[in-house]
Amino acid sequence: MSELREVYLDYSATTPVKEEVFREMVPFFCERYGNPSSLYTPGLDAKNALDKARNQVAQLINADDKEIFFTGGGSEADNWVLYGVVEAFKNKGNHIISTVTEHHAMIHTLEYLEKHGVEVTYIGVDSEGRINPKDIEEAITDKTILISVMMVNNEIGTLHPVKEIGEIAKKHNILFHTDGVQALGNVAIDVKDMGIDFLSMSAHKIYGPKGVGALYIRKGLRIPNLIHGGAQEMGRRAGTENVPGIVGFGKAAELARVNFDAHVEHSSKLRDYLADRIMAEIPDVMINGTMENRHPGNLNVTFKYIEGESILLMLDSRRICVSTGSACSSKSLKPSHVLSALGVSDELIHGTVRFTTGDFTTKEDIDYVVENLKEVVAWLRDVSPIGPDKGWN
Ligand SMILES: *Cc1c(COP(=O)(O)O)cnc(C)c1O
Repeated sequence: MSELREVYLDYSATTPVKEEVFREMVPFFCERYGNPSSLYTPGLDAKNALDKARNQVAQLINADDKEIFFTGGGSEADNWVLYGVVEAFKNKGNHIISTVTEHHAMIHTLEYLEKHGVEVTYIGVDSEGRINPKDIEEAITDKTILISVMMVNNEIGTLHPVKEIGEIAKKHNILFHTDGVQALGNVAIDVKDMGIDFLSMSAHKIYGPKGVGALYIRKGLRIPNLIHGGAQEMGRRAGTENVPGIVGFGKAAELARVNFDAHVEHSSKLRDYLADRIMAEIPDVMINGTMENRHPGNLNVTFKYIEGESILLMLDSRRICVSTGSACSSKSLKPSHVLSALGVSDELIHGTVRFTTGDFTTKEDIDYVVENLKEVVAWLRDVSPIGPDKGWN
């Protein structure tokens, strides 16, 4: 360990704000600080900035500008859809179909709604994290008001067949929502082609700022508001807009669209290189999830006989950032619900680390991580009471 670098391999938890994005945002703090609802010139200036950002986000997913509603992040967008659809369709039914591997922003909201009379069917996944769209179709009842399946899983990177699910939803005249937070900028999204009615997005996973996101609501659909108050966001989401944040989100969306191919190629090439080196140089490891149809930067690896948490902390002391399971569960001791759903044992789940590469990852970063990982894993296995040559495993 001669050289000391900082390596960030947790792009699915959050991303750094890109320089170009930050530069777009800066004037909207101290100079162009008008309230977009004000009728004088600085107000109109801010309003125009919002309109531009709305267009930039819309273009990334092939939506119309008027179908984009800015929120305080991906979690708010998920909450809004769920509360909104439940309220709007309470006379039709109370049944929602989702999956066992959704993000906590979905799962915990669904669990809350279950306490208030909503029925949820959670579709299971196979050992590689894939859902079978047939299971969704079979779960439909005449009380079903919403199908919600995340586009890309945040822990194991699985891409779900949203277009197929969108067709099933349409065939049965049921609304279809997808949490697209991990998909945005990482897989091509076309809301029209994919038959999506609602799509949740977040800026901070695509090199934009934290605390800003959006909900795409297909033209003609109306659900009750989540945040009540003024007439901002075309009357659908109250509160003075986070103008600098939204401007940053817009710029990040534009960059994601323009750099899409390069981003996907860069992050997947380095992810594959990391996977190849780990598999070749560290014994007793397994990759979770399928390598086909996977988030370009995601690698989820179980290191047998040791704790992912210990790996994380030892890597942190060498200035390497990775996560265990998902960032959201990293402060709880519960094993990841996603890996559990794959049938991975609790013991193996505790030995699991998620690496995600992104635009600023270099080959040297990966080499540095692998060299440190080899030392850390060997040391932890040395002191671990369990292992293949320790009598019991
Ligand atoms: C990060 C994330 C969210 C939450 O988005 P925030 O903007 O952090 O609230 C929701 N869903 C998925 C799949 C995510 O990865």
